[in-house]
Amino acid sequence: MQDTPSPLGVWGIAIPAGLFLLIVIFEWLRPRRTATADRTHRWPTHAGFFIANAVTGQILAFLVVVPLAANWAQENDFGLFNLVDPPVWATVLLTFILLDFAVWFQHVLMHKIPFLWRMHRVHHSDRHLDLTSALRFHPTEIIVSTLYKSAWVALLGVPALIALAFELWLNGNALFNHSNICLPHWLDRIIRPFVVTPDMHLVHHSTDKSEQDTNFGFALTIWDRLFRLYTAESKMGKDTQAVGIAEAQNRQPAKFIWSMLLPFRNVSR
Ligand SMILES: [Zn+2]
Repeated sequence: MQDTPSPLGVWGIAIPAGLFLLIVIFEWLRPRRTATADRTHRWPTHAGFFIANAVTGQILAFLVVVPLAANWAQENDFGLFNLVDPPVWATVLLTFILLDFAVWFQHVLMHKIPFLWRMHRVHHSDRHLDLTSALRFHPTEIIVSTLYKSAWVALLGVPALIALAFELWLNGNALFNHSNICLPHWLDRIIRPFVVTPDMHLVHHSTDKSEQDTNFGFALTIWDRLFRLYTAESKMGKDTQAVGIAEAQNRQPAKFIWSMLLPFRNVSR
């Protein structure tokens, strides 16, 4: 199969941009919590992250690294799917499940290994959650994630288009579960057994370390349930739960330079 990432590159921008707009509208119509964090600094800071990551990570991941890994595996008959050659529907289904597990596992490692936590705590230091929080990843974490995912793509022999479709699905989920939308309780209950909802991910952004180390899922909730790392609601209650890292409950996380330098700072956990 001839892989041409450029048309997907267009969709790769159009779909998240459309979803972003849709979530902005819902956050405005049905906000879950009032923003207590410093919005005038926080939003420009997150715009800065977006620009930095668009250059170092997302575009590179979408257009270069992941397609390279996929094409290399295909040309060299490397990876599970290139050896077994399952039907397309099975490849799609298995890719989405196995890569979701890979991303979940990486997220656990990001919390457990001090060197990786230094990068990941930049994301966690945000003191409020809305869809812009999904943009707040340190460029070093984006680079690590891209290389990690590319290794999985090669090991599994995932075709480039399917790998990129997964990337889109993952990014869409990240925008949704970081959003400040007040989802009706009944709807949250219906979708939570399958997909991570904003209320479920909110618990993961608790200042309480024992809660922070649960609900690692970005898309599927099965892994947290399977490995007993699922927390339904924060002890602090979902409306009053403190968000961020305990060691920076101040105005610093809203600032761009402070956030970019955070991996290199010794702030103990
Ligand atoms: Zn996390």
